[in-house]
Amino acid sequence: MTIPDNHPRAESLRIREKIIKGMHEKVVAEAGLIAHGRGEAYDYLLGEKTPNYAQKQQEVAVAMLLTSKKPVISVNGNVAALCPKEIVQLAEQTGALLEINLFYRSEERVKAITSVLEEAGAKTILGIEPEYYETIEELSHLRRIVDIRGIYSADVILVPLEDGDRTMALRREGKKVITIDLNPLSRTSLWSNVSIVNNVIRAIPEMIEDVFKLKNNNSDELKDLINRFDNYKSLQETLNFMSLRLRDLAEGKLEDPTKNLGDIKNE
Ligand code: ATP
Repeated sequence: MTIPDNHPRAESLRIREKIIKGMHEKVVAEAGLIAHGRGEAYDYLLGEKTPNYAQKQQEVAVAMLLTSKKPVISVNGNVAALCPKEIVQLAEQTGALLEINLFYRSEERVKAITSVLEEAGAKTILGIEPEYYETIEELSHLRRIVDIRGIYSADVILVPLEDGDRTMALRREGKKVITIDLNPLSRTSLWSNVSIVNNVIRAIPEMIEDVFKLKNNNSDELKDLINRFDNYKSLQETLNFMSLRLRDLAEGKLEDPTKNLGDIKNE
């Protein structure tokens, strides 16, 4: 569907179209549409812009990826549909490996996502060759299938758009988990080492910029940035931002778009 440029929510509709197209091409699971809708709702609370607290979360996440021994970026259908080039670029810039890991796993979907990532420039993709499959015992669903060269042996894993179960399982395995989830109350956000509460569409490109900013810092400086970060406090800051913004809107900052309608307004 062509979205008219002058549509007031053109950008949001274009993003939605990517998800719908991804679903028709088997990249996105049907449940991915529901997750996306939930994300859109939370993004209204942020004013669809990256708040300062998220910039901080993103910087710490990049510092963690840069100082990690073996960073892995886990890719699911929504991420592949929304920002394939950016996720490939972030992996290249941070030296992270890319691994496909799906809740609704089927060979058809794995193939479809592999093609999308290859088209986006990915040279190595893990999680697609059965001889390297291992399992995370704690998980009962298909996300338990991981690559022995990737998530299984990683120390830091970035899991954009995650379900809580796996974050919990990875933490219990002693791994550091970075997530991107617009819902600060999800189990994912609560269980992560670094929760980025922002839209993945903005977060990934901004993290690529952060790599260029932080790349020349020495590892002590990066570790200091990480050590000063407290995920629990950061989520409190996130909730404060959301509630203050709603309060400001409620107390008068919300513009009334119908105010110039004159007499028609009350007809
Ligand atoms: P949990 O298991 O962590 O408690 P959940 O059951 O909601 O949460 P999912 O169904 O996998 O887990 O939800 C995916 C999450 O991704 C939702 O919280 C949603 O807000 C978030 N989300 C969806 N689209 C985006 C996006 N574009 N950017 C960031 N987050 C998003």
